[in-house]
Amino acid sequence: MSAAKPSYWPERVFVTQDALEDALSERVLSRLGDVEVKVLDSRADPVTETKFGSALEGDAARFDLGKRTLLLTRHEGGWMERCPAGGSGNLVCCNLWTVNPGEGCPLDCSYCYLQSYLKRNPSLKLFTNVSDMLTAIERGVSAEPSRLFRIGTGETIDSLVWDPLTDLSSELVPLFGRLPNALLELKTKTALVDQLVDLRHEHKGRTVVSWSLNARAVTEREELWTAPLAQRIAAAARCVEAGYRVGFHFDPLIDFSGWQEAYSAVVDQIFEAVPASSIAWISLGTLRYKREMQQVMRERFPESQVSLGEQQLGTDNKMRYCQPMRLRLLRFMWDRLKKESRDLPVYMCMEGSSSWRAVSGTASSEDGSLVEIISRKGRLEDQAAEGVFLQ
Ligand code: SF4
Repeated sequence: MSAAKPSYWPERVFVTQDALEDALSERVLSRLGDVEVKVLDSRADPVTETKFGSALEGDAARFDLGKRTLLLTRHEGGWMERCPAGGSGNLVCCNLWTVNPGEGCPLDCSYCYLQSYLKRNPSLKLFTNVSDMLTAIERGVSAEPSRLFRIGTGETIDSLVWDPLTDLSSELVPLFGRLPNALLELKTKTALVDQLVDLRHEHKGRTVVSWSLNARAVTEREELWTAPLAQRIAAAARCVEAGYRVGFHFDPLIDFSGWQEAYSAVVDQIFEAVPASSIAWISLGTLRYKREMQQVMRERFPESQVSLGEQQLGTDNKMRYCQPMRLRLLRFMWDRLKKESRDLPVYMCMEGSSSWRAVSGTASSEDGSLVEIISRKGRLEDQAAEGVFLQ
């Protein structure tokens, strides 16, 4: 590999004995090149469960070390899960299933929930039994041919960040191209789309590539190692040119001086590069994080402004802006996006039905543009030629 290694690639790799012979392990290790490799007899997080990280004190130091340490191991147990929000009774569910090809993300955003979610096992992980994952997806989706499965790989990992080491998208995208009742969402903050462009004849309209976006000042200040905003949008335009539909996630929306102009400018940039008809969905969510994460955030990102501003603790132990501020952010973005195109599928992440009504003026179930996103069961008409799914 001739190009310089990205700064976020791991400094050391642990491999469990049972994963040593797997093709993914061999591929990753050969592409990483000169890197320290250690073999573990059985699965354990190198930072918190082996001698390697035992001298470290404090969650922040352990998380820092975890960001530079990769574990290649096999995943045991189920692969397809419902997005956790689907089980929370008072939240509107966006019907997303998740599959995690690994855990942890080498990029480093100050507000990232993984800093609390992966507190006990902070090392980066890639699961090497990829064929088991592909089989589980194919079986799960084929078992219910009349249901549309929207499956995302970007819940505990950036969907594309490891592609130069793993080629994972080159296995996932053609698989979904063959599954008539499933959509793959690849969610990223990178601009690593060369391999997706090469798959232009294989995605068959069943992969949506999506970007987490934020105001430019937020991306520059709070999102270490990610692609600059303009590069993310340019990558989206390349994917559209290769026939993909794309998605955007404004999450977390953040309150800072001048946020209206800053977020409005991002919307302008999107629509200068991407036609509304190629946008599968746009989600909106406001800042939220576990209270226990505040300390880690402050230690790891002393310059961050995310934990500033008026925030309150909810019954779920998460910090959020107060309700009027949350609604101001959501309503501004909703109106701004709908001004570009009234039929744009915009939805809110982790919000209850009262917020939906307050922001959109209607219930989520009454919004015809959201059928593909909100539908849970039901009849599916495959209109792959247009890249459109209907219930
Ligand atoms: S890109 Fe996403 S998963 Fe990775 S550090 Fe940032 S918020 Fe976390």
